[in-house]
Amino acid sequence: MASKIPTFKLVMIGNGGSGKTTFLRRHSTGDLEKRYIATVGAEVHPLVFTTNNGKVRFDVWDTVCQCQKMGGLRDGFYANAQGAIMMFNITSRITYKNLPRWHSELTRVCEDIPIVLCGNKADLNNRKVKAKNMIFHRKKELQYYDISAKANYNLDKPFLWLARKLLGDDALEFIETPALAAPDAVVDEDMLAQFQQEMAEAAKIPLPESDDDSL
Ligand code: GDP
Ligand code: MG
Repeated sequence: MASKIPTFKLVMIGNGGSGKTTFLRRHSTGDLEKRYIATVGAEVHPLVFTTNNGKVRFDVWDTVCQCQKMGGLRDGFYANAQGAIMMFNITSRITYKNLPRWHSELTRVCEDIPIVLCGNKADLNNRKVKAKNMIFHRKKELQYYDISAKANYNLDKPFLWLARKLLGDDALEFIETPALAAPDAVVDEDMLAQFQQEMAEAAKIPLPESDDDSL
């Protein structure tokens, strides 16, 4: 008898224009099977991954309402979320600056869930959010990944990190992932390697003492 696939609700948040919907649409199965929840203005994309220890399913909630500029989503959007993907656009400082607001809105409803922060549009070469200024994820102990929804760069990484946390298995690996649409951008590997280096350097700098939510 087939056993039930473990399923987790994830919410995707971040300023409009960061690329949340594009990111979810890359995973074609999720896009075909998405369902609309009118009461909270959300689209739910089911994504199934096969791991070395069976399947895992994420129901990923994406907001389709216009209220997403600075937060202000309904509590029903966040209710019972078990993990979150926060997204900003690496070429737009304002999308980074609003992260504390999104984070407090999320954690007001979901107190202690694993959260991944994604800096999207890594295919673009006009990065405005620099490694040395990226302390928010360190302060809040969020996992960080550079991604590019358009170039299919690192798209599995946030899901793998969340799957490991939610299933309590740090050695978990994906054997099969949802099919992706063909990329329509490329990343510059050298540029991204340089950024990785800058992030490693920045991680050595002690965090400022203050306990406030500013960046
Ligand atoms: P959302 O409001 O967060 O859902 O953002 P959308 O998915 O609607 O994307 C906003 C804009 O950013 C669209 O024009 C996308 O084509 C573009 N976009 C999304 N992801 C990427 C990416 O990885 N690279 C680039 N260059 N553009 C992207
Ligand atoms: Mg959207």
